[in-house]
Amino acid sequence: MSLSTAWTDVDLGGRGRQVGLIQVEHSVHRSAYGTIPVPLAVFANGEGPTLLLMAGSHGDEYEGQVALSRLIHNLDCNRIQGRVLVLPAANLPAVAAGSRTSPLDGGNLNRSFGDGYTSTPTGQIAAFIAEELLVHCDVMLDLHSGGSSLDHLPCSYADLSTQKGMAQRTFAALEAMNAPLTWAQAGCPNGPVAGRAALRSDVMHLSGEFGGSGRLDHHSLEVAERCIYRLLDHLGIMEMDERWRPTIPSRHVFNTQDHFVYSPRDGVFEPIVSLGATVNRGQVAGYLHRPEHPLEPPLELRFTGTGLVAVIRSMGRTQPGDCLFQLLEETGRDDILAMIARME
Ligand SMILES: [Zn+2]
Repeated sequence: MSLSTAWTDVDLGGRGRQVGLIQVEHSVHRSAYGTIPVPLAVFANGEGPTLLLMAGSHGDEYEGQVALSRLIHNLDCNRIQGRVLVLPAANLPAVAAGSRTSPLDGGNLNRSFGDGYTSTPTGQIAAFIAEELLVHCDVMLDLHSGGSSLDHLPCSYADLSTQKGMAQRTFAALEAMNAPLTWAQAGCPNGPVAGRAALRSDVMHLSGEFGGSGRLDHHSLEVAERCIYRLLDHLGIMEMDERWRPTIPSRHVFNTQDHFVYSPRDGVFEPIVSLGATVNRGQVAGYLHRPEHPLEPPLELRFTGTGLVAVIRSMGRTQPGDCLFQLLEETGRDDILAMIARME
């Protein structure tokens, strides 16, 4: 039985191209029988796997939203074999507000896929995605970025430990996407993310981070589109155009808790390294200043791991506990294959 009270005018079993809405009940003073109209497109033709493409889980992550909007505009249904479900603005209220979380309920869609769903708008969107869409899918690609507070090197990502019996196939899909960084690891630090719902339905879960800093980055947008079209090709749903065919150099990376730097106190954050730089454990990463105490010396921040600077906080004013840096450490392809062999 579905836990979602939302409904859609799109026939998920239908053929051809349909662009419609998921209607999520939202009864408020200004609209007693109101709904939140979340856009959903479905393309179905011939025989093949079903892929869910999702963006806008966080409203201030723009590359995926724009890449999927373009896909809905451009995808020729006659060229595909299988079915593609497209959610370009999954948490619509957050997307419309350009905000990570929903202004209606403070909900973070990507933390709303636990074992139960709340009756809030964000909870009901999560329930619909998990109970009405994911159950029909073979593969899901969830597009993210660093959002307003973080800048992120573009990468594809999968937590192989949640890919019950399909870690090898998941890694192959990740490599086929051919992002500049291929980030596969075992163990996801975040709670009830969309990947957990995918796991419950035996759906391959792929993700990626494409840009950030609260802006739409042209290069990261192109990486996101590259990943989408190469995945469609890899899954046998649609042959990719020539422009996406040449492979680019991609590095295999992973991280651990040592690769994060968190703010120990409040202040104004000054990073002194750039995104993409290679740094070592103990190296000075930046400073925290407190202009309200001009005689106080700045606090020096140091890296506790070695690797590529993949994430830098893009906001100046900082509170204790804010993530300031995240490193990704390069690893060998053979090491990942050995990890998969141990898991399967
Ligand atoms: Zn996100």
